[in-house]
Parts: sequence; C-alpha cells; structure tokens
Amino acid sequence: MPEDHPHIQPIIRQLDETAINQIAAGEVVERPASAVKELVENALDAGASRVEVSIADGGKTLIRVTDDGCGISAEQLPLALARHATSKIDGSDLLDIHSFGFRGEALPSLGSVGRLTIQSRAIGQDGHEISVEGGHIGPVKPAPLTKGTVVTLRDLFFATPARLKFMRTDRAEAQAVSDVVKRLAMARPDVSFLLRDTSKDGPGRVVFRADAERGDLFAQLGGRLAQVLGKDFEENAIPVRAEREGLQLTGFAGLPTFSKGAAVAQYLYVNNRPVRDKLLVGGVRAAYRDVLSRDRHPVVCLFVSCDPSLVDVNVHPAKSEVRFREPGLARGLILSGLRHALAEAGFRASSTVGAATLGAMQPEGSGPPVSQPIYQMDRPRDSYSGNAYRTAAPDVSAPIAPNQTGFAETQTPFAKADPLPDAKDDAPQQSFPLGAARAQLHENYIVAQTEQGIILVDAHAAHERIVYEGLKAQMAESNVTSQALLIPEIVDLSEDEAHRLLEHIDDLRSFGLIIEAFGPSAIAVREVPAILGTTAMEPMLRDVLDELADTGSSDLVQARIEAILSRIACHGSVRTGRRLNVDEMNALLRQIEETPNSGQCNHGRPTYVELKMSDIERLFGRT
Ligand code: ADP
Ligand code: MG
Repeated sequence: MPEDHPHIQPIIRQLDETAINQIAAGEVVERPASAVKELVENALDAGASRVEVSIADGGKTLIRVTDDGCGISAEQLPLALARHATSKIDGSDLLDIHSFGFRGEALPSLGSVGRLTIQSRAIGQDGHEISVEGGHIGPVKPAPLTKGTVVTLRDLFFATPARLKFMRTDRAEAQAVSDVVKRLAMARPDVSFLLRDTSKDGPGRVVFRADAERGDLFAQLGGRLAQVLGKDFEENAIPVRAEREGLQLTGFAGLPTFSKGAAVAQYLYVNNRPVRDKLLVGGVRAAYRDVLSRDRHPVVCLFVSCDPSLVDVNVHPAKSEVRFREPGLARGLILSGLRHALAEAGFRASSTVGAATLGAMQPEGSGPPVSQPIYQMDRPRDSYSGNAYRTAAPDVSAPIAPNQTGFAETQTPFAKADPLPDAKDDAPQQSFPLGAARAQLHENYIVAQTEQGIILVDAHAAHERIVYEGLKAQMAESNVTSQALLIPEIVDLSEDEAHRLLEHIDDLRSFGLIIEAFGPSAIAVREVPAILGTTAMEPMLRDVLDELADTGSSDLVQARIEAILSRIACHGSVRTGRRLNVDEMNALLRQIEETPNSGQCNHGRPTYVELKMSDIERLFGRT
C-alpha cells in the first residue's frame, strides 16, 4: 500500500428510503415512456375500461393517467407509496402472477424522482389524494372525484438531475410514450385508450385514440390492430393460431411483401405482457428467413400464452424480458406457427404492392400526393440482372423446363408460331386468381387478364420460388433428386474454395449436387438437382460458397440447408431473356397459385402485382 494513501476503514451504512427508491427508479423508470408504462399498467390492473393519458413536453413536465378502475381507499393511499407494498400478490408464489405489476416499486420510485400526486376514489367511498415530492410524502386530503384514479407526475427527474441529462428531445420522448401506449392498447382491445399531448396548455391534441372493441377475441384484436397499425396491416396480415404442449400462439402476421426496412413493428406479448424478448424475436426472424431477405423485417403482433408457472416474469425490473421454462418450445411454437400461417397464405402478395404501383403510374400533379410505397427494395436485384449471371449463362434460350416444374418436357421453339388466344378462348383460365396469360413483356414479365383486372407477374422471381419450394419438398421427403450430367463439368476455383466445397461434399450430395475433386484447385460436377434443368455451374458453385461463408458458423442445420437451397434455386429459374409461350405462361401462373409462399421470391420481393379494373379506370379518369 502506498505511503501517501493511508488506509481508511470504510463504514457500512444503511441507505435512507429516498436513496433506495431513487436507485430502484434507476431501473424501473428510465424515461417518461417507462413512467407511462407503469401507470397505464396500474390502471389496467385496477380493472379500468377507459384509460386516458396526457403528456406535456414529451412527458418531461407532465404525465397524467386517468382511469375508471377500482380506486384506492383513503387509508391505503400511503401504502401505495410505500416500497414493496402491493395488492397484487401475497408473496407466496412468484410464479403465479396474473397482473402487470407485482413488485410494488413503481409508485415509490416515481415519487422519489418527480412530483407525484395520486387522487383516487374507492367504490362506496369519498375521493382522497396524496402527494409526494422528491421522496417527501404529504398528508392524505379529501379530493373531488367521481370514480377511479388520477395519477399526476410532474417534473420527472427534477430530484435526480443526472438522469435529466439523458433525456432526449421532446419529440423523441413523446414518440416513445405513444409507442408504449399503443403496445398496451394492443394487449387490451376491450379497453378504450386516449393519448393527448397538452404541451402549450389548452385541451391538448389527440395523438392516439382507440375505442373498446367488441366481438370474439380475434375480431377484437383485428379491429384494434387496424386502429393502431392502420388498415393496411389488417388487409395484409394473416391470422396465426397454434398450440404446442400447453403453449398457445395467437395473433396476426404481416405478409412478407408487407415488410419494413427495420424491426420497428414487431409486437410480442407473453401472457399479455409486452416483451422485447430475444428468444421470441429470433423465432420470428427464423420463420421469415425463408421468405424475406436479411435486410427486411416483418410486421407481426403475436401473443404467447401459457400457464403462468411456465414462465418467469421476474427477470427484469421493467419486466420486458421473460424466461420460459422451456425456451426451445416457445421458439419452436413461433417458428412453426408462423411458417404454417405463411404457407397457408400461399401466393398472396401484399395489396399495398398494387397501390404503390398505381401511385407510381399516376401522372404528376394529379390527385393527392402518392404515399410512399410500403414495399421498397433495399438492395439491387442481385439474382439475375447482375452481369455475373448474364455472362456466365450465355445460353439463355436453353430449355429450362424439366417436368417437375410443370412445364411440358419438350418445348416447341417459341413464340413465332404461337398465336395469342382470344379473350373468349381463355375465359376459363381467367377465373383463376392469377388469370389467363395474355403476353410476355421484356422477356420476363407476364401480363395476365383476370375477371376483375390485370396481373403483372415477374416470371423469374416466381419461378425461383417454385423451384425453391420444390427443392425443399424433395429435401423433406428424402434427398433432392439429381440428374447426371453427360459430361462432368469442370469448374476452376482457388485451392481454398475447392477445399471448402469438398468439406461439405456430403451435405451437397443431399442437395442433389454431386461433386468431386479435380486436381488441387478444380471441382468436377457430376450431378445436379433435376429440378434445375440446364444451368451454368460456376456461378452456382460460387453462390453456394458465399452461402457457406455466410452461414458456415450457424449451427442451425435447417437454416443452412434452406439458405443453400435458396441459392441453388436462383439458378434454376426462368432467366430474363427467355421467351415463354402461352401454355408455359399459364402453367407458371397455375403453379404459382399452388406453391406455398409464392407471393414473394426468395428475397421477399413480390412476384406479382394486381391492378383492379376499378383502379385502372381511375388511373385514366374514367370514373
Ligand atoms: P404494483 O403495481 O407492482 O403493485 P405500484 O407501486 O405500481 O406496484 O402500485 C402499488 C399499489 O397501488 C398497487 O398494488 C395497487 O394496489 C395500487 N394502485 C396503483 N395504481 C392504481 C390505480 N390506478 N388504481 C387502483 N389502484 C392502484
Ligand atoms: Mg404497478
């Protein structure tokens, strides 16, 4: 020990109540939105049917939550402010929790960092109020009130200036408050919610309003989600309902073509409690991995429910994380429940794709400004317009249609001798959802006529999905059926790359890709998946190599298989530059209708756009 620092014996002290509460507040109340969350949860726990929230200056100067719940009696008011005092559990079983709150921390914490007043009227009694400022509790006084509870919190963090510094702009804090209120509103569609911003006095601007929904649980939830997430979500979401060993999953999942550029619209609940749980988020990602590229994020609102004893909610002071007794079960339920629902959606693509297309077609300055298309590509179409493929696959007119994909095995040389049918001839085809093929444009896009409008199909993208789903189905049954090449194709690679491929020789065999070493730095390809037809080997092998590099560390076997199959599938697709005859086009349309997930290609881009006759007429001002 250095001479100039004489050892001082430290003294252990008991902290006072205010300090203890401020420390607890550090965990429970991070920002105005967390205070709002605690107060709204208290209102819901009190059985409220209406909850009103007012904030000013992002909640920094004022948060007021009004409810019509059971209220607190005069003699209990001081207890509500006492630490570890709660009416929600008796402490005997922390795994039997049916309320949002149970820790008895929120009100004392808020009272230690802000100016808090609780006005409340218990049923059959008069109204009373109690105030606390920076930890100093005042007397209980009579207060005029007809019903329920009003909690007012002013000047949050005035007593802990350090926290005040971490506050973000009013706008950002208000946004977070709104998000919290909406999350809770989705959990309780049977309760009315109102959020007002009363900055600059006056009655305040209504930021969010959702009236109580009626009907069965699904109808209630559907109605509430339409109010919170917009009508678009309602139109582009599929119901999810699954169950597994005592765990239930319900909710709505957005179509892949209704995805977003960030994971901002994923609402997950465990026993009705909003959570941000990594395990569950991971399950959602995995479920969509197959239908969305990595930079797109699905919109979902999902509820996992189970016996409270199967999940520990006492993991985190703000209770935003939970711990399942069987984590694998919860993740698996989300994964399979979502996948099942998505497959059921079949070839449905988001209706917003059509709306966005029409918006793009609208002449400038006509009508209201076109809203941003919901679906936007975040990255270039890398699968077939890239030069690598063009040059590597010069044989664009090669027959690419083995019978597994539904095309006739022998194709007549296309087009010239192939008159387009009259609309009356293909009337029966028109009654199919994707209609009767009428033309192919730019050697890729198929134009089809339906009874109610027109459909524009990206043939390449659709075919890619069909090949992929075909490969997956074969894979699930046993191994992918392969087809021997007449002459093995030699692909030159680097020594490293050749080595990496050979390491996976057995996996690749199960994908129908049979390779062997050919000298130190080349690979001979002997067999390929039959479903692919003729394809250029080098770009395919390079793609597989990329995928191995990307997912090589992934221990999720299924994910890896799918990622590699998806890469392989891209190479079996109808390449742009290849013209299809009418029968081929119609066969492709019928196949899309029958293929799971075919509303989007393997990267989550839509495979077709539907334009309704009424929309087209509007476009030309015919209505
Ligand atoms: P917890 O919610 O964990 O019990 P709180 O500190 O949030 O702890 O609240 C303490 C107690 O005050 C609650 O258990 C409840 O009895 C009462 N209380 C709080 N808010 C309300 C309200 N809005 N209506 C009725 N009672 C309330
Ligand atoms: Mg509480």
